[in-house]
Amino acid sequence: MAGINGDDGEPGFGVYLHWPFCAAKCPYCDFNSHVRHQPVDQARFVAGFLKEIDHMRALSGPRTVTSIFIGGGTPSLMAPETLGAILDGVAKAWHLPDGIEITLEANPSSVEAERFRGYRAAGVNRVSMGVQALNDRELRFLGRLHNVEQALGAIRLARDIFPRMSFDLIYARPGQRADDWERELNQAIDLAADHLSLYQLTIEEGTRFFALHRAGKLVIPDDDHAARLYEITQAVTAARGLPAYEVSNHARPGAESRHNLTYWRYGDYAGIGPGAHGRLETTAGRMATATEKHPETWLEMTETNGHGVIEESPLSPEEQADELLLMGLRVREGVDIARWSALAGKPLDSEREAFLMQLGLIERIGNSRLRATPEGMLLLNRIVAELS
Ligand code: SF4
Repeated sequence: MAGINGDDGEPGFGVYLHWPFCAAKCPYCDFNSHVRHQPVDQARFVAGFLKEIDHMRALSGPRTVTSIFIGGGTPSLMAPETLGAILDGVAKAWHLPDGIEITLEANPSSVEAERFRGYRAAGVNRVSMGVQALNDRELRFLGRLHNVEQALGAIRLARDIFPRMSFDLIYARPGQRADDWERELNQAIDLAADHLSLYQLTIEEGTRFFALHRAGKLVIPDDDHAARLYEITQAVTAARGLPAYEVSNHARPGAESRHNLTYWRYGDYAGIGPGAHGRLETTAGRMATATEKHPETWLEMTETNGHGVIEESPLSPEEQADELLLMGLRVREGVDIARWSALAGKPLDSEREAFLMQLGLIERIGNSRLRATPEGMLLLNRIVAELS
C-alpha cells in the first residue's frame, strides 16, 4: 500500500525521546514539563537515557528505526553534545539507516536558536518549533518567552540549517476574530517550508488557564466560533497547498512527519525518558509502556533498576483494535479495515457504518479503507464508540 507521503505505507518503528525540562511553564500546558532553577546534570541524564535505551532494546529485539523524535519539555535546552550522546546510544541499540527523519522540538528564543548548528551536526534533519502565535500580545498571553521578532529569526535560521522545518500555532484564542486568524494563518504559510501544526487552544485540567477559566476570568471561543476557525484552517491550508493530513497537521504532499505517521498507523515506537509512552511488539505480544514522569525520580530509577519504566502491560487484541481505529481515523489515509477486523475479531458493523456515513462523519476510501471526514475528525471518540 502506498502511504500518503509517497512512502510504503508501513507503520514503521519510531524512537521517541522525552526531555522534560522547560525554562518556564506555559499556562495552557499539561505536558510532562518541569522548571528547574539549578542547572540540570545533563551527563547524568545521558547515562539514564542510555540505560533505558538498552532496556527498550531488550524488549523490542533488533529493529530498523524509521524515525526519531526528540520532544518535551524543551529539548532545545539540551546541549548538542547531550543530544549527540543519546542519539549515539539509539544508533548502537537499533539499526539506523542513513537519512531517516530525526526531528527535534525547539523553542524559538535566540539562545536556543544558537544551538541549531550543533543539533544539525548531531544528526537532526527536521526541526519543529513552538512558535504558537505571530503576535506579541498573544505570545505574552500564552506565557511564551519569545517575541515575534525572535520567532521570525529562528524560523529563518532553521530554514537555513535544517532540510525540513515545521512550526506550531495555537488558535481559537480568547477574542480571536476569524479575519485575524485567516491573516495570521496566511502569514504562517508564507513562512513555513512544508509543514504546520495548528492546534486549537484547549483548557486542560491542572493548568493555570484551567483555574482562570473556572473562575470566569478566561473565556475561550464558543463551539460555533471554534468550528468556524477550524473550517477556515482547513480551507486556507488546502487552498495554499498544505492540506490537513491529520486533525491538526498540515503538509505539502510528501512532507508529512514520518514519525507521527508511525503513531497514526499504529506502528511500534519505543518511548524513552521521563513520562514517555511506547507501543512495542515483544515476544510476549504487543505491550503498552510508560515511564516515571518526575525527572529526578526517573533518573534514580534508571540508576537503581536500569530503567524508569512503570508500566509494561500487554494489550488485548480488542484494545489494539480500538487504538488502531482511534489513531487511524485521525489521518487522511484512514484505517485498513481488514487489519482492524483481524484485531477486533469481527467485521465492521455495516449498519453503524451507514449511520455514521449518513451523519457525514466517516467515508470510505475505495473498498479497503475508512476515514473520518473533516467534521468527523472533531468527534473521533464518538465514532470509535459507535464502531467498536
Ligand atoms: S515550552 Fe512547551 S512543553 Fe514547555 S511548558 Fe511551554 S508548552 Fe509546555
